[in-house]
Amino acid sequence: MATDKRVLLAAPRGYCAGVDRAVIAVEKALELHGAPIYVRKEIVHNKFVVETLSERGAIFVNETDEVPQGARVVFSAHGVSPAVREAADQRNLLTIDATCPLVTKVHKEAVRFAREDQTILLIGHTGHEEVEGTAGEAPEHTIIVNSPDDVDFIEVPDPNNVVWLSQTTLSVDETMETVRRLRERFPALQDPPSDDICYATQNRQVAVKKLAPECDLVIVVGSANSSNSVRLVEVALQSGARTAHRIDRAAELQEEWFAGVTTVGVTSGASVPEILVRDLLDALAQRGYSDVQEVRTATEDLMFSLPREIRADMKARAAAS
Ligand code: SF4
Repeated sequence: MATDKRVLLAAPRGYCAGVDRAVIAVEKALELHGAPIYVRKEIVHNKFVVETLSERGAIFVNETDEVPQGARVVFSAHGVSPAVREAADQRNLLTIDATCPLVTKVHKEAVRFAREDQTILLIGHTGHEEVEGTAGEAPEHTIIVNSPDDVDFIEVPDPNNVVWLSQTTLSVDETMETVRRLRERFPALQDPPSDDICYATQNRQVAVKKLAPECDLVIVVGSANSSNSVRLVEVALQSGARTAHRIDRAAELQEEWFAGVTTVGVTSGASVPEILVRDLLDALAQRGYSDVQEVRTATEDLMFSLPREIRADMKARAAAS
């Protein structure tokens, strides 16, 4: 029987260059040095990735004091503050820094602005690892701004000496609204030298915005603690999707979501392996949504080189063999 049921599949979606690099860094560390390899925090915010690496011998810890003296530890893609690096040094840990280079860029901006004695208004979510790491570069100079509604309550030492930075994985539209309100309060507010919200976050939001108006339901694959995945649900709803849900995996689909649904939009956060999207498409096909049309708004070819500690170990291994 003919059916109008269809899937609009966002592109780009899924893994970004920073996540790919971080996951490969842990895999290579396991290959080169054997298990266990310690990882401070989740290497990327995805349950499936963390479970898969755990099965292969990665041990995820919250802090470096849980890592045995002298052991090898990977810092996650979200970055760490100087205090964490120092704590690792004190335990003589062998560190592998998988911080995404686009997060490192924001750290460097924070250091520079603090050196110039500016107050940094860091737009981001309190408690998120990336925000902790960036704020930790210049704790005396940084004020975290969680949302546009925070703006009215901010006090700065010198309103003529303020600059804003942001977490890399925020909603572009909400961040611009926060900046607009900050500028109303602090007309001398300086902009960062370039966008802090990264290319992957922006591209995934643009793609979901394009398909959302045609969708009765948008499903975002991604974990609850993945900032960019949660933002994709919000962006889908703001852009006209009738409903939107985030799931970690296809088994979480609920039958009532599909009542009266003709068009399903599908996307995934920047820390989500494509296999989880494929599983979702199979589950949708079983429900009659087998016509899959890709909605592409950008092509990505950015790649980052592996962390230098891994490159050095690979070189040494090659020389020895
Ligand atoms: Fe880097 Fe952006 Fe990916 Fe985060 S989402 S790891 S900042 S590329």
